[in-house]
Amino acid sequence: MAEETIFSKIIRREIPADILFQDELVTAFRDISAQAPTHILIIPNHLIPTANDIKASDEKALGRMMSVAAKLAQEEGIAEDGYRLIMNCNEHAGQEVFHIHMHLVGGHSLGPMLSKNR
Ligand code: 5GP
Repeated sequence: MAEETIFSKIIRREIPADILFQDELVTAFRDISAQAPTHILIIPNHLIPTANDIKASDEKALGRMMSVAAKLAQEEGIAEDGYRLIMNCNEHAGQEVFHIHMHLVGGHSLGPMLSKNR
C-alpha cells in the first residue's frame, strides 16, 4: 500500500493550505513555494503516487483535475495570456511529493518548456 504524503493531510485539512477548490474528487491549493505569480497544485483526493500508477478507474478524477485547471485559470485571470500544466513523474522529472499533482503555473511569460542545458 502506498504511503500517504503531506498532501493527504492538506486534503483532510489537518494542516493549513490555501485551498481554492475542493469537491468529492479533487483538491486545488496554492503551492507553498510559488515559481510564478500563479502556482496552484491540483490533486486527486485519493492517493496515486506517480503517473505510472494511474489506472482506468482514475479517469474521472483526472478529468476533473483538467476541468478544475481550466476554471481556476479563468478565475486567476491568466486564461487568455496562457499558462502551463505540468505533472512530474519520478526522478528524472524531479518529482518530490509522491501523490500525483498537476502544477498550474502562469501570470507571466514562462519561457521555453524544457531547458536546453543538460
Ligand atoms: P514536484 O516537484 O513533486 O512536482 O512538486 C511538489 C510541489 O509541492 C513543489 O512545488 C512544492 O513547493 C510543493 N509543496 C511541497 N510541500 C508542500 C506543502 O506542504 N504545502 C504546499 N502548499 N505545497 C507544497
